[in-house]
Formats: sequence, structure tokens, C-alpha cells
Amino acid sequence: MTQFKVSPATEQFVKKQHRMFINGYWLSSHCEKTFPVINPATGLILTHAAEGDKEDINRAVIAARKAFETGPWPRMSPSDRGRLLLKLVDLIESHAEEFSEIESLDNGKPKSVALAVDVPLSADIFRYMAGRATGIEGRTKSFNSDLLAYTLREPVGVAGQIVPWNFPLLMAAWKLAPALATGCTVVLKPAEQTPLSALFLGELIQEAGFPDGVVNIVTGFGHTAGAALASHMDVDKIAFTGSTEVGKLIVHAAANSNLKKVSLELGGKSPNIIFPDADLDLAIPGAANAIFFNHGQCCCAGSVVYAHKKIFDKVIDGIAGIAGKIQLGNGLDPTTEMGPLVSQEQLNTVRGYVDEGVKSGAELVIGGICSMGDGYFHSPTILTDVQADMKVVKEEIFGPVVVAMPFSDISDEITAIAKVANNTKYGLAAGIWTKDVAKASLLAQRIKAGTVWINCYNVFDASLPFGGYKQSGWGREMGEEAIELYTQTKAVTVRLR
Ligand code: NAP
Ligand code: MG
Repeated sequence: MTQFKVSPATEQFVKKQHRMFINGYWLSSHCEKTFPVINPATGLILTHAAEGDKEDINRAVIAARKAFETGPWPRMSPSDRGRLLLKLVDLIESHAEEFSEIESLDNGKPKSVALAVDVPLSADIFRYMAGRATGIEGRTKSFNSDLLAYTLREPVGVAGQIVPWNFPLLMAAWKLAPALATGCTVVLKPAEQTPLSALFLGELIQEAGFPDGVVNIVTGFGHTAGAALASHMDVDKIAFTGSTEVGKLIVHAAANSNLKKVSLELGGKSPNIIFPDADLDLAIPGAANAIFFNHGQCCCAGSVVYAHKKIFDKVIDGIAGIAGKIQLGNGLDPTTEMGPLVSQEQLNTVRGYVDEGVKSGAELVIGGICSMGDGYFHSPTILTDVQADMKVVKEEIFGPVVVAMPFSDISDEITAIAKVANNTKYGLAAGIWTKDVAKASLLAQRIKAGTVWINCYNVFDASLPFGGYKQSGWGREMGEEAIELYTQTKAVTVRLR
């Protein structure tokens, strides 16, 4: 499987013929088709997964509908639903080792990172939502003493969930946890590049004892299985994380079918603004981590650095110093700090952006080096001398590539910097580094982004809502806001006399 050892349990899981999880059964696709699952560190086939399509999505939706309409799940007490979610948390935590090895093999990320980030954050969101299950409440309304009026918060029904490959387990967890807490039933489609951790989670969902049909997992391709889920007439809600381009297709599919509810977590081009009074011992590693974490394959990656010209060279030298020391390699090698990109396609995209940027006049400070053996490696890269209208500045690269621009002293600084930071179609995140927290807070109010980090970056918690302004998405995942995505309100009015 790889020159690096994994636990026997992981080896056994990965090697098997992977099927889809529908109505409590593990099934082949209706036409018995499969697709290869690739290890991006070697380019070799790890195993095969079932290639579900429209017919398989339909089977899964029928199961989810039955579980929602006649099964115990939505009628179970919220505390019983919470108890099952907590059982799942225990199972996730006790299989952290396997999960992190599976993520490393399938996605390429270092096992150590998956163990420190992906797995605990996944457990945390299930734990948080287990608690929230008992807090989903309606209200009473007193507008007329002859009438009793109250609201009920009800689950939306069957939720379709389409997740990407950058945090395969965590993105599935962010979607499944609130849906399950509210009593929805789910059809989940993992990304074609990384189906394995969702299937392993499916096994644990079964072991925990969730009723059949509550969670269904269909592996397959976006343009077939994903599109069928988004346009299905009997799916009440679709939640999607991925590119803005596909997000727009999801909206069209929902509009042209049954007008199902839509939530989207899309791309980003997030600015990291470094003022001259910033603590550079914090800001420089912070800015490096903001772009290089997960190989830049983060929707909220701090992919544009704006640093004051007084400190610009120091910041760039500092980030370059860190970039030059990052150890690239197989994610299962304990010394590896950065693994490969997820696929040849993603490597081609990232390489294409860097080449194009350099051709348009950008200076390559460090990086731009690709591949190591047969894996899809791209070294941490910094581009300076860039202009606001360049593709590398405007578009999401989704790789370990940061573009950096200086800014000067200006009157009405907050307005001017907010204008530069907001000069993007995206609005997912932003970072601000300064000792003047009042200034940072005023700037945070002006930035059109769903998350603003001040003197920190990439800090997540299950209680903090995450999502985008502008073309970065609709709705918020995590926090109590995520409950809103999976519930709807009914007003009931009773004549008393
Ligand atoms: P993508 O095409 O948007 O894929 C995300 C998910 O949507 C996958 O499960 C995918 O299935 C599915 N999908 C694709 N086409 C679909 C369709 N027509 N209908 C329904 N579902 C569909 O992302 P990608 O191709 O993996 O990456 C391309 C770019 O997207 C990246 O370079 C990056 O800029 C952005 N991206 C953003 C995020 C994020 O967290 N916001 C995550 C990943 C990628 P398949 O895997 O089978 O295609
Ligand atoms: Mg893979």
C-alpha cells in the first residue's frame, strides 16, 4: 500500500472493496461500477470505491425519506438523539489513529495534522451538536388573549450533503452533526478524490446504532451522483462545500427542481493585513500558517498578504524562511510537515497559476517547485510584485501559494485598507495583525467576510459560525447558526374562545 506502515486495522479497511451505505446496508452501485481511489503521495491506486449514480442516489433518497417519515429518528427525544451522537464521538475518538491514517493515505495530509486537527475537530462538532439537540425550541407569542400562538422548530426533512476533498472527514462532520441533531435524515456524497474516511465514519454510525436510513453515503462523481442529489425532487435541502462554480450549478439544480433549501460554503481569497506595529514574531508565522496549512487547500487560506511597506521585506523574508524549511513528503512519514496536493489535476491547476503569475511579471521569491517521485507535490511559494488585476491575485489558487503586496501610510487608513481587502468577489475570511486592537476591531467591522481573525488565524471552534459573504456562500456552518440550516419554523395559532 505504501512504504510507510499503517495499523493493521487501517490496512484492512483501506484494502477492502468499498460499497455504499444505504438503508443500513453496504451495497454495490446498481450497475456494479467502481472507481479507483488514489494515494496522492505515490500516485498509486489504494483501492476501489462504488461508483454510485442517479439510480443509487434515488435508492438512498428513498431510504432517507422512509427513515424521516416513518422511522423513529425525528420522533426520538432530542436527548436520545444527543446520546447517539455522543456514542459516535466516543467511537471517532477511539478510532483517531485509523482516521488519521486513512486521511493521510487518501488526501495526502500529514497523519500528525489529521490527528491534531481533523479528527478532534470532527469529534468536537458532533459533541457540540449532541448538546444543542436538546436546545432546539419554539416560542410562545402573546399578541391576542383570545388566541394561543406558538412556534415549532421542525427538521427540514431529507438533507443532501456534498462535501469536498480538502478536509474529507471534518467537512462531512460539519454537515452531518447539525442535520442529525435536528432530526433530519441525510444522503451524503463525499468527494470522488477522498471517499474513504466518510465510509469509515459510516461503519461507526452503524456501530453506534443509528436507525437504518438516517445516514446514507453514496460515493461517486459530482457530475452524476452529486448533480442527481442537487436536482432530486424528494430532497428538502442541499448543503454544499466546494468551488463557487459548482455552487452556482447547485443553486440552478435546486431552482429547476423542487426549490429545495440551499446552503453553500464556497471559495475564498482571504486577505491577511499586517500593520507596521504588529508583533512580527506572531504575525510572520501566523501569515505562513494561514497559507501553508493543509498545503493551501483551505477555503479560508490567507492567500493575499497586505503588509505595510515599512515591514514588507521583513515579513516576506520571514515567510520565505519558514517556507524554505517546511519538510515535504509522504504524510505517513513522521517528519513530514506538508504532504502532496490532492490530485494531479490540482497540481496542474496550482502550477498553472504560478507559471501564469510569473509570466505576467510577478517575482517568484521562493517555491514553484513541483513533484517528488510520483506524488503531486508543490513546494510552498511566495509571489511579490503583483498587481490587483492579475489572475494570481483575483482567483482562488487552492495551493500553497501566497501573493504579497505592500501598502503605504494613507489618510483615512481604515476606509482605504477595507477597500483593498474587499476588492474580491469572495468574502470568507480575513486576518488583521496589529497591537492596536481598537483599530483592528474597527477594520473588522468594515471587512466583508464571514470570519475575521485578529492577531491569530485558522482558529476554529464548534461554537463559532463559519461561512461566507458575497460569492463565498450562503448560510453558516457550526455554532447555533448551523441548526437554522436544518430546521424550519411553523407558527401554530389556537382560538381559545
Ligand atoms: P468541486 O468540483 O466544487 O467539488 C466539490 C464537491 O462537489 C465534490 O464532492 C464534487 O464531486 C461535487 N461536484 C462536482 N460537480 C458537481 C455537480 N455538477 N453537481 C453536484 N456536485 C458536484 O471542487 P474540486 O473540483 O474538487 O476543486 C476545484 C476547486 O474548488 C479548487 O481548486 C478550489 O478552488 C475549490 N474548492 C473549494 C473548497 C472549499 O472548501 N470551499 C473545497 C474544495 C475545492 P467530485 O469530487 O466527484 O467532483
Ligand atoms: Mg485520494
